[in-house]
Amino acid sequence: MKAEAPLRVLYAASEAHPLVKTGGLADVAGALPRALRNLGHDLRLVLPAYPAALERAGALRTAAAFQVDGRPLRLLEGRLPGTRVHLYLVDCPALFRRPGHPYLDAGGRPWPDNAERFCVFARAVAELACDRLGRRWRPQVVHCNDWQTGLVPALLALEPVPPAVVFTVHNLAYQGLFPHATFTALGLPDAWWSYQALEFHGRLSFIKGGLVFAHRVNTVSPTYAREIMTPAAGCGLDGLLRHRAHRVSGILNGIDTGVWNPARDPHLAARFHARRLAPRADNRRALRRRLGLDPDDEAVLAVHVGRLVEQKGADIILDALPRLLALGMQVAVLGSGERALEDALRAAARTRPGRVAVHLGYDEGLAHLMEGGADLFLMPSRFEPCGLNQLYSLRYGAVPVVHRVGGLADTVTDAGPAALAAGEATGFVFDAPEPGALAAAVERAVALKRDPRAWTRLQRAGMRQDHSWRRRAGEYLALYRRALADAGPAR
Ligand code: ADP
Repeated sequence: MKAEAPLRVLYAASEAHPLVKTGGLADVAGALPRALRNLGHDLRLVLPAYPAALERAGALRTAAAFQVDGRPLRLLEGRLPGTRVHLYLVDCPALFRRPGHPYLDAGGRPWPDNAERFCVFARAVAELACDRLGRRWRPQVVHCNDWQTGLVPALLALEPVPPAVVFTVHNLAYQGLFPHATFTALGLPDAWWSYQALEFHGRLSFIKGGLVFAHRVNTVSPTYAREIMTPAAGCGLDGLLRHRAHRVSGILNGIDTGVWNPARDPHLAARFHARRLAPRADNRRALRRRLGLDPDDEAVLAVHVGRLVEQKGADIILDALPRLLALGMQVAVLGSGERALEDALRAAARTRPGRVAVHLGYDEGLAHLMEGGADLFLMPSRFEPCGLNQLYSLRYGAVPVVHRVGGLADTVTDAGPAALAAGEATGFVFDAPEPGALAAAVERAVALKRDPRAWTRLQRAGMRQDHSWRRRAGEYLALYRRALADAGPAR
């Protein structure tokens, strides 16, 4: 195969924007296949046929009817909306056609049959990858993502001539762990019940299928790739990852620069770009009005958007509030998640009306306006595989204030004296996920903001960075070629 020849890649995921989304994985699975397709590669995306996916996918046709574990399945074929990416949906009504969240029931608990759901999905993906569904198409590379596709690499390793397999970890904290009885019920090969395969401290681990059997494992930032090899961030899998260190790497996520473009964003009150930042003030005013904050043009406005869970550290912002408000700032939070955090945030907003605003729920338009109007974007994540919001913030001139961890460490350059002088600074980085450290970083930011020229320079340095998927797609191609080399010739 010539180095520049187009590749045939099957991209397997459990969610993809705009069909179904619970988090950053959907953004990646919606954008990376398109970027690779646009570079001329034969990228095909395969997902479970959830009701939302069936509704939004547009025209679909039945490409195959087959059985997995005695269950009748159909393979549906179409296009990922708005792209030229070939889409396959694995249709198994008993397992996937249920309303609501793809992984959780209405009470927020994992669906009780999740192991079976994603085992059946994995078996279907393996059949497709080995061209046993009559498609006359055989991928050279199969790219799997997170625990829901973890059994695919294991199943493909049983094949006489398997394709090259890449497994991406978007968040190691979610592993797909089930009791031994589930392992037996799924009829998986006995040899897999071993610490060298899928067994993890007496339980079945889906993610280990990917970590053990894929030719290449990557995660969504170089720093997170190093961190997960340490006991502190390895979630018990650091030993295995160190063992495979020569096959583990990190590639930063990109952002959809069409959707996140301040010069064309329909959600903004006023559009702007790096050379014309003045309209941001209109967005800031619109944001204050929308959130019920005082119309105080002098106040520095700091915002936070994200899932309200321990990982993201909204509690750290809450604990830092007294020091932040003492600076005369305003703070706004958009998010949804754990009840206790939601209640605490609501209480903080009630106590400081006009200075603290909290919007509970998921609101894409408001998230855009917050990026387009805020002075500071706070991300005190305790861990962060990549993080997308700091990338949106960089592009929108909302200066990020971040904990030095994972993808945040890789994408934000602290405004220390040397970086400022070199014009390389893009934000403020602090070393501990603690209220005091966050407040100290915000204090530095507020001090620098008194110098409008230095501030504009900081904003522009961030806005000029290229975090497009087009650029990242090249890095994935290089990874695919390494996986192909590992898998050996004849693919
Ligand atoms: P994670 O995948 O861990 O949730 P990321 O930063 O990688 O975190 O991606 C989160 C995505 O979801 C981003 O696109 C972010 O803007 C968006 N998001 C999260 N919560 C909200 C919310 N309440 N309203 C609007 N967008 C949100």
